[in-house]
Amino acid sequence: MSQRVAIYPGSFDPPTNGHLDIVERSSRLFDKVVVAVGRNLAKKTLFDADERIALMQEACKKWGNVEVRAFDGLQVAFAKQCGATFIIRGIRALSDFEFEFEMGNMNRALAPEIEMVYLMTAPEYLFLSASRVKELVAFDAPVDKYVPVNVAKALKARSGQGGLRTGATESND
Ligand code: ADP
Repeated sequence: MSQRVAIYPGSFDPPTNGHLDIVERSSRLFDKVVVAVGRNLAKKTLFDADERIALMQEACKKWGNVEVRAFDGLQVAFAKQCGATFIIRGIRALSDFEFEFEMGNMNRALAPEIEMVYLMTAPEYLFLSASRVKELVAFDAPVDKYVPVNVAKALKARSGQGGLRTGATESND
């Protein structure tokens, strides 16, 4: 039987425990998961693409069937490039649903052979977003509960350089 490969696309600015929970659960559902870190985002990001990839790679190294790669362009095009027939997205609140529903339908129109898979967030991560994490760090609040150790370190280093007061916390992720 052919391998079941999925991509998990996102901006991951920075990766949070909510993202990693989705990665872990996906790694049990699929033979291979490619975490697709968006390179050319319209959003202003705190960490550049190479930094976000490195942070994600470090956080995902415990899962043997998870690979982290950069991507630009359409999710469905990148999925095909990876030999993936599934695209994973995490859903938190109703507010995620509307955006995901629209994007899922667009993806289906572009590539009906690729199935969207939505994993509902674990309740402990329901209110966790990369933007909230950046806000907390900007106000010197601890974030160790919400992000992996390597990300907490990187955030601390960046906030020390004043990088968290640049407006990169404003995106609605
Ligand atoms: P994007 O900019 O593509 O929405 P994000 O990095 O914000 O990228 O999120 C990537 C994916 O992870 C999205 O499907 C998002 O809904 C999901 N996600 C974000 N935070 C959580 C969380 N706390 N629990 C579960 N899924 C999440």
